[in-house]
Amino acid sequence: MNSEFDIIRRYFNKPVSNTILGIGDDAALIGSSRKTVLAISADTLVVDKHFSPDVDPYNLGYKSLAVSLSDMAAMGAKPRWVMLSLTLPISLVKDGERWLSGFSKGFFELAEKYQVELIGGDTTSGPLNIGVQIIGEVVEGQALRRDGAMLNDEIWVSGRLGDAALALCHLKEQICLLPDEVDQCLAALNQPIARVELGQRLIDLAHSTIDISDGLMADLGHILSASNKSAKIYLADVPCSEPVSTRLDQTLAVSCLLAGGDDYELCFTAPCAKHQEIENLSNELSLPLNCIGKITDGNGLIVYDRAGKEITLEKKGYDHFGS
Ligand code: ADP
Ligand code: MG
Repeated sequence: MNSEFDIIRRYFNKPVSNTILGIGDDAALIGSSRKTVLAISADTLVVDKHFSPDVDPYNLGYKSLAVSLSDMAAMGAKPRWVMLSLTLPISLVKDGERWLSGFSKGFFELAEKYQVELIGGDTTSGPLNIGVQIIGEVVEGQALRRDGAMLNDEIWVSGRLGDAALALCHLKEQICLLPDEVDQCLAALNQPIARVELGQRLIDLAHSTIDISDGLMADLGHILSASNKSAKIYLADVPCSEPVSTRLDQTLAVSCLLAGGDDYELCFTAPCAKHQEIENLSNELSLPLNCIGKITDGNGLIVYDRAGKEITLEKKGYDHFGS
């Protein structure tokens, strides 16, 4: 069963229904409805950079799609189609198919949940590398962008931040989590939940949106530079779970919270007039939405600690080419 075509047929070629032509030809054919525009995004997951070589293949398949779904969420788009480019070491193909069946199971479980269709890709051998391209639809003129933040907007964050980064610190033995904390934080790291529904619901509420993949400060920073604005945020209001909050006296935990990355929550800005509607949405979706600060003009991004003192962090987020 080792040919490239066997792998595609056996693990990845699933029936499609919202696609004109799926896997099997030189290109897939899709048709979007006339009033929508396509939102398209690519992500690459590289071994030793985004995941360790011994990661559970199910988790890896799941996360490969989750991070792309998160990009759709941040645009307010409905995810529709996905392409998968796999570079696989021969050893993984020869391991009795354990790896491929785990990976494809994790991938398709999420694809089915969001009704996203795999319509093509590429399969080659080499050092493990996973490329995902995702295509979504959003009504013309309604996409959520980074460049829409306005003066005096409130800044909001969904869910709770820091768990995934804390899990990574635990795996690197920089901190020691308790057993039940390990489970919670590893779940955040391995199976992040893309806020797809929230993204679409924010279309009428938010001025600007981004998903937090590289860390709150870095990603909010992208909104600020795209919108040419500044901001003040308050550490005390940044939502974090127990494992993070019980360690906020440690710089490492603060840095996980503000600059850790891999959260895949949404950070968005919205006018104060929408405050109540956003709280209502939070109740409706049973998803915490917390206001953490305000858009200002001047002075960049300032983060205040509980005592009202400015926090300065060495690293504001993950940068592949940073030192
Ligand atoms: P070509 O040689 O024309 O590039 P390939 O032989 O690479 O085509 O691929 C055959 C078909 O299988 C194409 O439709 C391609 O999109 C699809 N495909 C290849 N790899 C994957 C994969 N990992 N997941 C889904 N579809 C794939
Ligand atoms: Mg090809």
